[in-house]
Formats: sequence, C-alpha cells, structure tokens
Amino acid sequence: MNDTAQKITVEKAQTSKIDQVDFDNLSFGSVFTDHMLVCDYKNGAWETPKIIPYQPITLEPSSKIFHYGQSIFEGMKAYKDAAGDTWLFRPFDNHKRFNISAKRMSIPEIPEEYFIEGLKTLLRLEKDWIPQSEGSSLYIRPFMFASGKGFHASPADEYKFMICLAPSGAYFSGKVKVLIEQTYSRSANGGVGYAKAGGNYAGQFYPTQLAVKKGYNQVIWTDDNTHEYIEEAGAMNIFVRIKDTLITGPTSDRILDGITRKSIIEIAKDEGIPVEVRKITVTEVVDAAKNGSLKEMFGAGTAAVVSPIAAFGYNDTDYDLPELPNSYARRMKERIIDIQYNKAEDIFGWRHKV
Ligand SMILES: *Cc1c(COP(=O)(O)O)cnc(C)c1O
Repeated sequence: MNDTAQKITVEKAQTSKIDQVDFDNLSFGSVFTDHMLVCDYKNGAWETPKIIPYQPITLEPSSKIFHYGQSIFEGMKAYKDAAGDTWLFRPFDNHKRFNISAKRMSIPEIPEEYFIEGLKTLLRLEKDWIPQSEGSSLYIRPFMFASGKGFHASPADEYKFMICLAPSGAYFSGKVKVLIEQTYSRSANGGVGYAKAGGNYAGQFYPTQLAVKKGYNQVIWTDDNTHEYIEEAGAMNIFVRIKDTLITGPTSDRILDGITRKSIIEIAKDEGIPVEVRKITVTEVVDAAKNGSLKEMFGAGTAAVVSPIAAFGYNDTDYDLPELPNSYARRMKERIIDIQYNKAEDIFGWRHKV
C-alpha cells in the first residue's frame, strides 16, 4: 500500500445489499455496490478521496454540470479469476484517457494515484460483488463533473470525481443490424469526439432512436464532412474485414482512442492477421458486400469486447454479412477475455492485479 491508499478514508455501509441481488440474472449497469468513491476539487486542489456508502448526492441547481455539461466518464471492468483474485485490464490507459477528456472539457486532471489507488481500495472493499461466472464482471464507472455553481458560461471552480461499481452479466448483443448514418454526425474536426464527454452520448440518442424506428439496432457514424468514411459503431470503435484483412480507421479528433481497439490491433499482429489502420470508405464496404469480399464487421469496446454486425443498411438497401464459424471477431474476443480473466499468459503486460 502506498501513501495515497493509506490516506483514503473508508466509511462502511451499515448493511449490505448484496443478498438482494440475483447474480444469475444481471443486466448491464443497473445494480450498484454498497460503496462509492468521492473526491472533491475545491480551492484549486483535489482533496483526498473518500469511500462512503452508495447514496444520492446533493448539488446546487446552478451547478455548471446542469447548464454547460462539463462532464466526463470512463468505462472499465474488474474480473475475478478461478482462484478468486481480482484483475483490471490496462487501467493506466483509462486514467490517461480520463485526463485527456478532462483537459478538453476544462476539468482539472486527476492524479494517477487517486484514480488507481482509489479504485483498488474500493474494489478490495467490494470484492464479494465481483461475479465469478463466465463472462460476468464488475463494471466500473469513474466520472467527473462540474459541481461548482453559477450561471456564468465559464469553467466551474469546484468538481467531483466519483467511482461507482455495477456487477454486470455476460454481454450478449445478439445479431446487430446497423444503419450507416448519412445525415447526423457524432463528432467533428476540432470537436470533442475523442473525449468521453457526457454530451457526446446525449447527441447520439436522437439519431439512434430514428434508426431504431427503421428497424436497426445501432448507427454507424461516418465523417461529418462527407459522410463517406466509416468511423465508429455507436459508442464502439469499428473493424471491417475485407477478404482476410482487418481494417479500422485511424484515431483523430472524431474517433475515440479505444483500449479494446488498440488491443485488437496488437493481437491481430501477434496472430499474423493482416491489419490496416486507415480510412475506410462507405463505397468500399458496399462494393465488398456486393462482390462477397466483405467477411465481417464488428464493434469493439469494453462492455461487449466485440459486437459482431449481422447486417448494415445504406441508401435504403440492407446488406447481410456471412456467418463465419471461425470469425476474427470470435478469435479476438477469446484472446482478450482469456487475458482479462487470467486464463492465458499475458504476453503484452495488460493485466493488472488489484
Ligand atoms: C468508450 C468508447 C469506445 C471504446 O473504448 P474502450 O476503451 O475500448 O472501451 C469507442 N468509441 C466511443 C465513442 C467510446 O465512447
């Protein structure tokens, strides 16, 4: 234990809610553990994090989060192995990205030890909440927002950094049918698409609802300027397989630098799968679907690891993708899960013991 971990105060919940939870039927992110981490930024500095019972928080109506949306988050998971040990997957990358998001939204950066040691202290306390069954995990939601008050449109003077935990079952997305978006945009050059800023997701809801009304599950985002380049799949990065080559777009202002995405690129290289990081045009994907060379499309992100796409719609036409027995999507998912659950050697050094 280092200095920070020693300083974190823990106020324990008087009773646990764990007996009321049906661990065999967990949905995603709707049940929360007994405790949460809270850290306040006041008078120009972060105070020492505290762990307290999970409970509502009180905010001034003029808190800037409500008016100007200074708010960011991360998504991570804790995994329990067969021996009962707890693991994180590339958590330092989440911390780095959190601060990249913070900077873009004029939120003060959080020190690494507050984020990592705070999280580990919380996880040790909530160890019994980490499901052990295949595919289940404890979803981790670090977030940070402007709690400071005032209607003046400028950065707040007070912030809260919090972490809440939600036990979650294996994420089966089923057959995902997606619509290539030709009107709305998720992000733009010079914008905040690379940050996990709350408003980015609010902005996606409406176009996604329109797609759902048309019978699709999700939107494939294209570039804001021409809608000619495929960029992301909902709130996931996207991979396209044409013949045997795996392709994903380069990260940019508009494309979020996903940890699952970069892990898949490294695993593909390790497996000798040809992988290209380059722009993907809609035309190229439609042509490949027509001539049969489009083998797979899948989303990549922490929640589902990979989410295979069964069909996509474009210009009022639907294109089905083949069902492959030995898909790259499946291979990638298995390699990542085996590392996350400490079932395979971690040649990359991604696993972090709690
Ligand atoms: C979080 C997120 C991803 C996936 O990132 P991971 O680190 O793999 O979970 C991709 N795209 C968007 C827009 C996201 O918010």
